[in-house]
Amino acid sequence: MQNDEAGGVVTYEVRGSVAVVRLNRPQYRNAQNSKVTYALDAAFTRAVNDDAVKVIVLAGNGKHFSAGHDIGSPERDADQSFERRAVIWWDHVGTEGVDSRFARESEVYLGMCRRWREIPKPMIAMVQGACIAGGLMLAWSCDFIVAADDAFFSDPVVRMGIPGVEYFAHPWVMNPRAAKEFLFTGDRFTAGRARELGMVNHVVPAAELEDTVMAMAERISAMPRLGLALAKKAVNQAEDLQGMRAGMDSVFGLHHAAHAHNAEVGVDSLAGMGVKSMRNAAVQS
Ligand code: ZN
Repeated sequence: MQNDEAGGVVTYEVRGSVAVVRLNRPQYRNAQNSKVTYALDAAFTRAVNDDAVKVIVLAGNGKHFSAGHDIGSPERDADQSFERRAVIWWDHVGTEGVDSRFARESEVYLGMCRRWREIPKPMIAMVQGACIAGGLMLAWSCDFIVAADDAFFSDPVVRMGIPGVEYFAHPWVMNPRAAKEFLFTGDRFTAGRARELGMVNHVVPAAELEDTVMAMAERISAMPRLGLALAKKAVNQAEDLQGMRAGMDSVFGLHHAAHAHNAEVGVDSLAGMGVKSMRNAAVQS
């Protein structure tokens, strides 16, 4: 069964007991606009509501998993309204400054990623190529990551004067010193390095990525649904007891202080950085 959500920016497919949700903007390295995040939300909801689905795989079509939030494609849609589902807040459209940015990012970024982390079915991120900034947020919302050997990970937003992406899981998905290096340098961490740090579970040759992930998903599918849901909740609760949820809330405030500072002293909330300037500044480590 193959179906598209929201004009094809996300595809949805059920194979046996596994739902495969794929980002489908390969021409823009799967950059996420709001149309994408709401389509993901709809696809995940569908997978949760389908009793035949036991495990969800999140993937990206093309050479890259996701190059981050859409800050420059022709379909950038940060000024549009969508029906809000992740948090209870007013629409950002027609508002200004922090009033606008906080409302939008609470819903589309932090709110949605948290909601997805709490999905009661196991979610595996299948990552190849670039997994940058907003791409990390999607992979980190999943329960674990299986990466191709060509995958790389980076959060370069300190170049914008911003202390990391909105879903601030950095010191929980890797150790705090590694998180500092990741943020301070903005360097690309290879799949192998990410595995060493505990952020990635397995690294496999690119040609074997899909078979490996589907075999794992099928094995997990043999477990009882409630057992999986409770095991997931148990580990998530442990992370929250280690301060993850409260930590993210406090960093979300710092993140918005940075956006506001940029807008106050510079040209815009992203310190005038677009796709090109971010790409030119990126270095391979
Ligand atoms: Zn932001």
